[in-house]
Amino acid sequence: MARYENGRIPFDVLVHLGGEHYLTPGTAAKFIAMRADVWENEGVWLEISPGANGYRWFEKQEEAYRDEPDGNAAYPGSSSHGGEYNGRDAMAVDIGNWGRLGRALFYHYARKHGFEPDVFDWEPWHLIDWEPWAAAPATATPAPKPRRKRNTMTEAAYRTPGGTIAIQGRLGGALTLLDDPDEWTGIHQATGAATWGISEDKLNYLVGHYGTVPAGLYDTGREPLRILAPAEGGASRYGALGGRAWPLTNVRDLAALQRQAAEVVVMAQSEIDAALAWRNF
Ligand SMILES: [Zn+2]
Repeated sequence: MARYENGRIPFDVLVHLGGEHYLTPGTAAKFIAMRADVWENEGVWLEISPGANGYRWFEKQEEAYRDEPDGNAAYPGSSSHGGEYNGRDAMAVDIGNWGRLGRALFYHYARKHGFEPDVFDWEPWHLIDWEPWAAAPATATPAPKPRRKRNTMTEAAYRTPGGTIAIQGRLGGALTLLDDPDEWTGIHQATGAATWGISEDKLNYLVGHYGTVPAGLYDTGREPLRILAPAEGGASRYGALGGRAWPLTNVRDLAALQRQAAEVVVMAQSEIDAALAWRNF
């Protein structure tokens, strides 16, 4: 017997994760833990698909049923996003960018954090939590490591006041310290990449944290630089790089990040605070 009728959960018992994203507290805790785990280990920030793709209240189910092509949306009051499914408590959440991990790795993390993936095999993004009111502790199963290939792409380049240039082929990856300034000139001309000024201390931190690969090699991937913006619309911004977040207190940092094609991710301030608490520089 489900706790609430499908699509009729009062909003004040739900957790708001920005936009139209609402989840039961248990499902929210599992999702946040899964997202942190994936971010930490894979460098991918999982996003719920835009729209009511966590909890889907009754009116939204009607809307989806009316607007979606035949068969793509459940009959109103029967969606597994509604808090009840086939008489059981259930909360589905759709992860828009699951494909960044690939199906096997995404399912691995989903199961690890208490979700059942693959209930509808044509919807790989659709995860169901059958215990949406209980937060399950994560079990410590090591994730299979994704394969990475090397090339000479540059995601971030840093220059210290002393003239040291370090390149991060993959944000969050190991750094390549250039020992020949002409090499940077060549990379700059070939890719248009610009350096981002940082202090010697910050470079030492990055080297200590991410390690280095020998000159001529680059640890690469496709992780974008991110700016975290509070959903409440405040003026604060935070940088997020390779699993770390830090407040952007100076305009120059922000401008530099934006020039490097950072993508802006809107999050609830409470989530940003949580990220800062365990990821601060
Ligand atoms: Zn779904």
